[in-house]
Amino acid sequence: MSKVKIGTYFEEAQCGFTPRTAMEEAARCLLCYDSPCSKGCPAGTDPAKFIRSIRFRNVKGAAETIRENNVMGGSCAMVCPYDRMCEEACSRCGIDKPIEIGRLQRFAMEQEAAFGMKILVAPEEKKAGKVACIGSGPASLTCAAELAKAGYEVTVFEAMEKAGGVLTYGINYSRLPQEVVDRDIQAVTDLGVEIVCGCKVDAKKIEELKADGYVAFFVGAGLWAAKLPDIEGANLAGVKTAVDFLKDARVSGGKADMGKKVIVIGGGNVAMDCALSAKLMGAEHVAIWYRRTIEEAPADIAEIEHILSLGIPMTTNFAPDFLEGDGKVEFMHFKGRDGVSSAKVQVDTVVFAIGQAPEEMAEIAEFAKNPKGGLVVDESGKTNLEGFFAAGDIVNGGKTVVEAVAGGKAAAVEMIAYLEKR
Ligand SMILES: Cc1cc2nc3c(=O)[nH]c(=O)nc-3n(C[C@H](O)[C@H](O)[C@H](O)COP(=O)(O)OP(=O)(O)OC[C@H]3O[C@@H](n4cnc5c(N)ncnc54)[C@H](O)[C@@H]3O)c2cc1C
Ligand code: SF4
Repeated sequence: MSKVKIGTYFEEAQCGFTPRTAMEEAARCLLCYDSPCSKGCPAGTDPAKFIRSIRFRNVKGAAETIRENNVMGGSCAMVCPYDRMCEEACSRCGIDKPIEIGRLQRFAMEQEAAFGMKILVAPEEKKAGKVACIGSGPASLTCAAELAKAGYEVTVFEAMEKAGGVLTYGINYSRLPQEVVDRDIQAVTDLGVEIVCGCKVDAKKIEELKADGYVAFFVGAGLWAAKLPDIEGANLAGVKTAVDFLKDARVSGGKADMGKKVIVIGGGNVAMDCALSAKLMGAEHVAIWYRRTIEEAPADIAEIEHILSLGIPMTTNFAPDFLEGDGKVEFMHFKGRDGVSSAKVQVDTVVFAIGQAPEEMAEIAEFAKNPKGGLVVDESGKTNLEGFFAAGDIVNGGKTVVEAVAGGKAAAVEMIAYLEKR
C-alpha cells in the first residue's frame, strides 16, 4: 500500500503554476463578457482582467490589477476559499471545471516578487490629519494602505512582536508561508505606513495619540481571547487553546513542545489547522474529535479532505466531558451524543479549537458592543464614537481574510470622507 506523504512544517501544501502551466490555465478562460467571477470577490478583485493579462503574457499588468485592488493579494491568493467565491461563480463550472483563479493570482504575485516589481506608490503631497490603525491584521493593513494611497500619514500599532495578525500567528505555514505575508506587509510599508510592533493600544495610549495629533482611529483588533471549556481538568498542563497552540507552532518554527499524542477538539477550519500543524511538527498520533457530524462541521470540505488524506482521523458525535491527570493532562474523556456512549483517550496535548472572542474593547474606548463582545458599526464601518472606525473579525465575528480586506477598504473610504470634512 502506498504511504501518504506528510511533508514538513515548512513545506507548502500546494505548489504554484509555472509560466507554462499558468498560460495553459489562463487559455481555458472564456473571457466572458459579463465575467461573473469578478462579482464573486468580496474585495472587488477583477479576475477576468488579470487572467486576460496573463493570457497575453502581461504579468506586470496582472500583478497591478491584483495589488492595486487588494494590498493583501499575495496572502489572499494562498488562503481564500475560492471554491465558494470567484471560482464558484466561474462560467466554466457549467462546462467542466472552474478556472483555477486562486492559483493564477498566486502566479501573478510570485512574478511580482521574482521581478522585484513595486506597484503601489504613495502621493508625494501629504494631507492633514494623522491616522492610527489598531492591530496589524489584514483589515488594518488594508485600511492603512488605502489611506496612505490617498495621501494620509498612517501608523499601525500592533500588540505582538510581528505584524500580520492571524496571517503571521495563526494560519498554518504550509498553507501560508511567512515570506508571502511579509511581501504584502512590505507593500503597505512601501506606501510610507509606519508599523509599531509590541505596542498594545489602551485608553491611555489613545489619549497620547490624540495629543500627538492623531485625529482618526481604525480598530482591527481581531478575536484574540481564546476559550477553554468550563470542564474539570481544563487547567492541567498540556491543555491549550488553538490560539496559543498555533502561535507556539509559528513562533517555535514548527518545534512546539506537544508530546506524541495530540487531540484537537472542534470542527472548524481552526481545528483543521491545529491538527495539520501537530502532524507536520511530528506528533505520532493526531486526532480530531467533534461533537456533531462531519456534514455539520463548519470547516471547508477541502480542509477536512486534506486532513483525512493525511491519515488524521476525525471522530464525530463525541463532546468533551472532563480531563484527567496529575498536574499534566493524561486522559481525555468524552461523552457520546446519543447520551449513553463514552470514550477515554490517552493524550499528551489537548487543543481546544472551539471558538475565539474579542478581547475587552473597553480597555481601548467605550464602544457599543454586540452580545459577543464585538464592535457595532454602521454599514460604512463607523463605530458609536466619533473618529473611530472598525472592521474585520472584531466586527463580523470571524470570517475570512478577504472579508477583512473588504471591511478595511470600506472603512477607509468613510475615513477619507471624515478627514476631508474636518
Ligand atoms: C487558525 C486560523 C485559520 C484561518 N484560516 C483562514 C483561511 O484559510 N482563509 C481565510 O480567508 N481566513 C482564515 N482565517 C480567518 C482570517 O485569518 C481572519 O478572518 C482575518 O485574519 C481577520 O483579520 P483582522 O485584521 O480582522 O484580525 P487579525 O488577523 O486577528 O489581526 C488582529 C491584530 O490586532 C492585534 N491587536 C488586538 N488588540 C490590539 C490592541 N489593543 N493593540 C494593538 N494590537 C492589537 C492582534 O495582536 C492581531 O495581530 C483563519 C483564522 C484562524 C484563527
Ligand atoms: S467567469 Fe471563469 S471563464 Fe469567465 S472570465 Fe471569469 S474566470 Fe474566465
